[in-house]
Amino acid sequence: MTKWVYFFGAGRAEGDGTWRDLLGGKGAGLAEMTKIGLPVPAGFTISTDACDYYYKNGKKYPPELKKQLAENVAKLEKVVKKKLGDAKDPLLVSVRSGSARSMPGMMETILNLGLNDKSVQGLAASTKNERFAYDAYRRFVQMYSSVVMGVPKEDLEHRLRAMKERIGVKEDTAVPASGWKDLVAEYKAFFREKTGKDFPEDPIEQLWGAIGAVFGSWMAEKAVTYRRVEKITGLLGTAVNVVQMVFGNTGDTSGTGVCFTRDPSSGERVFYGDYLVNAQGEDVVAGIRTPMHLTEMKKLMPKVYGQLEKVREKLEKHYRDMQDMEFTVENGTLYMLQTRTGKRTPAAAFHMAVDMANEKLITKEDALLRIKPEDIERLFYPVIDPKVDRKALQSKILGTGIDAVPGAAVGRVVFSAHDAEEWAKKGEKVILVRRETSPEDVGGMAVAQGILTATGGKTSHAAVVARGWGKCCIVGAEKFNIDYKSKTMNVGGKTIKEGDWITLDGGEGTVYTDKMDLVTPALPAAYQTLMKWADGVRRLGVRTNADTPQDARKAREFGAEGIGLCRTEHMFFTDFEFPEQGQQRQRAIQEMILADNREARVKALDKLLPFQRRDFVGIFKAMNGFPVTIRLIDPPLHEFVPHERKKQEELAKDLGLKVEQVAERVEQLHEANPMLGHRGCRLAITYPEILEMQVRAIIEAAIECKKDGIKVLPEIMIPLVLDKKELWILEQATRRVADEIIKKSGTKLDYLVGTMIELPRAALLANEIAEVAEFFSFGTNDLTQTTMGLSRDDAGRFLPDYVDEKKAGVFAADPFQSLDTKGVGMLMKWGIEQGRKPRPKLKVGICGEHGGDLDSVKFCHQIGMDYVSASPYRVPISRLGAAQAVVEEKQSSKKKK
Ligand code: PEP
Ligand code: MG
Repeated sequence: MTKWVYFFGAGRAEGDGTWRDLLGGKGAGLAEMTKIGLPVPAGFTISTDACDYYYKNGKKYPPELKKQLAENVAKLEKVVKKKLGDAKDPLLVSVRSGSARSMPGMMETILNLGLNDKSVQGLAASTKNERFAYDAYRRFVQMYSSVVMGVPKEDLEHRLRAMKERIGVKEDTAVPASGWKDLVAEYKAFFREKTGKDFPEDPIEQLWGAIGAVFGSWMAEKAVTYRRVEKITGLLGTAVNVVQMVFGNTGDTSGTGVCFTRDPSSGERVFYGDYLVNAQGEDVVAGIRTPMHLTEMKKLMPKVYGQLEKVREKLEKHYRDMQDMEFTVENGTLYMLQTRTGKRTPAAAFHMAVDMANEKLITKEDALLRIKPEDIERLFYPVIDPKVDRKALQSKILGTGIDAVPGAAVGRVVFSAHDAEEWAKKGEKVILVRRETSPEDVGGMAVAQGILTATGGKTSHAAVVARGWGKCCIVGAEKFNIDYKSKTMNVGGKTIKEGDWITLDGGEGTVYTDKMDLVTPALPAAYQTLMKWADGVRRLGVRTNADTPQDARKAREFGAEGIGLCRTEHMFFTDFEFPEQGQQRQRAIQEMILADNREARVKALDKLLPFQRRDFVGIFKAMNGFPVTIRLIDPPLHEFVPHERKKQEELAKDLGLKVEQVAERVEQLHEANPMLGHRGCRLAITYPEILEMQVRAIIEAAIECKKDGIKVLPEIMIPLVLDKKELWILEQATRRVADEIIKKSGTKLDYLVGTMIELPRAALLANEIAEVAEFFSFGTNDLTQTTMGLSRDDAGRFLPDYVDEKKAGVFAADPFQSLDTKGVGMLMKWGIEQGRKPRPKLKVGICGEHGGDLDSVKFCHQIGMDYVSASPYRVPISRLGAAQAVVEEKQSSKKKK
């Protein structure tokens, strides 16, 4: 028979702290605390398995649960020597949720269960406190009505306020027993009116109602959203903890509190917490009364405080991590109600991990595992000031999209890149709002505080470019109706006009109306220490995706050891050093595209050459001594020419062409499916002169730097290759140009020619391709797109449904963000194995967005890559992921032994 219920009490427990998956964090914590001899009230836990069963069987309980529940209630009654519903001295219980991963405040709790018209008298008699008993009763009826039966909370609270007005008191503490008695009667009448049923008097019926409510809250909107935002997947459900009630509100020698073994905001090793005299747990959470700090509690009740200090020491040693504990003092006796690993600010996470390793509470390797990628991201990006009132914030939500780049941004809405640049010139802070972005928009994107697009996913143009700059970006905000003509956007019945202030929270994908205060946290010293430890452990190299000298320098500060991807086409539109020259670059590339013969094309390319060469010089200098992988032109040409008539007219005028000629060429370039069209190395097959210009710019820049004493290691990378012969043609062309320049220069220069693996065919035939390629770099943005048949630009429209466990839950995470290790990963593994057949030392890296995703980095380690490449702000995440991969590998091989 399956066991669904696990008991704890009187120093024994069925289970322990490691049983989190089955008992939930709270249940496991209670079992563990009971076992190590801490004062814990007795109770039992209904397992998460039971919740799983409940949802898999049309919300039906496992048949054995009834019997097991009855047995455990009887056991509990025996241990505490009280009976549920007893008319003399009743047992009361709390019923709380608790899943394997902490989801604070997301699920339901019922307190004081077991009270009815009879047992309330027993409670009054045994505590000699009628007021207390009826207060407990009304709290129970109030909670049960709203949580279990869905009676509106507001209506109940309204009745409470009206009662207080009637009898002329302000504070709850001043309400006499009769006031609470009347309120209970009122609540019950209202309960009948709303539900058509009498309020349940039978404690077992009450218990089933509460269990159902806790299970139900697992799938409540807010809990599902929380799991999505926190990327919590793979859990069975919530457990239900039924625990003997202890009361913090029986008088001044009672109280309740929450404490942390270290300061959760700063990470300092100080005992930190709040205590509220004569109160129940919910009073602390509700924040109606101001609690006292633990230092004051120490003065007020030194003995209990001393016990609490001992518990603190014991628990932190036991769990080897900062604990967040709830306790209650009932008439001078301390009870521990919960312990869990405490949430902490990112700065505190670093501080504590390093301190604990130095104190030898944990090893340095453990310290590395303690840091989450969000801890790193949140260190560098501005965030909405935590002091901003959360309720006020909620009321200002305009809508949501996909959280492409974290951080927050505040600015005035503009709807075109051109306007963004114009407004920014006047010193305005702007948010660029577009349906989607294209390379034409990069100038506007560069000056904007943040970017919001209605379409696209995590590897769409907007997301990739913004990530490179560490700029807050939300994409795929499908519900935002953007109208460029009227310069407005509509969402959920609200209209936002050009110039209106909005705030983006890119970490959550939320858009707010108005201007919010932002703060950028200071970088803690412990960050540097911990990253040094990470670098000492990892095997994988970590490079960066950077297209400009500025980005390259930034990435070096973040610890990048070279460039894994320089997207040369990003250089065609904006000049980051001399912005006024941006237009010249743009015109040169457009002239090249519009050219209808080789000669005209070469003439235009000659104009581009000095710009590209200058960029490469800057990048080589920033990466002195580190390899730099430069990718030849990749996207379809139509992305570089204007599609609006007005812009076409301007372009025609500048180039001395007829507008019809421009329009006709733009029309020619149109492709129904450009992502699978004339792009990548296919362009260089058709127009070898583009390759020749780019190779010339790279090699000439390298030689110039070398002459200046810079150590250059250029790696020329050919994108979107699908066949060995295709690569061979381009490799030969590359070497012809490069070798001739090197020869003429009279210097020696080593360079590599390699390829991206972005198409399944290239991965499958990697053994052939590696006969030509000196290195592989997996372009997993395109490889994901082409393997899964999911458009990286359009899948944002429906991918959230695929990730949402309430809808389809096909994937645990967005495959454009976190590698689909099963499918795409299989091709990668095969590609590496095959590629190393003809070339055993083949250098292999990854330059898709996954190179900055912690779990994907770990996978890259496992399959034997040499390095990963991430956008500058994610370089520290990759360094950490690479180190964690080594530690985890070691730990799992130890376990196997
Ligand atoms: C890729 O496809 O993974 C890649 C890095 O290239 P891009 O994103 O520029 O297509
Ligand atoms: Mg690609």
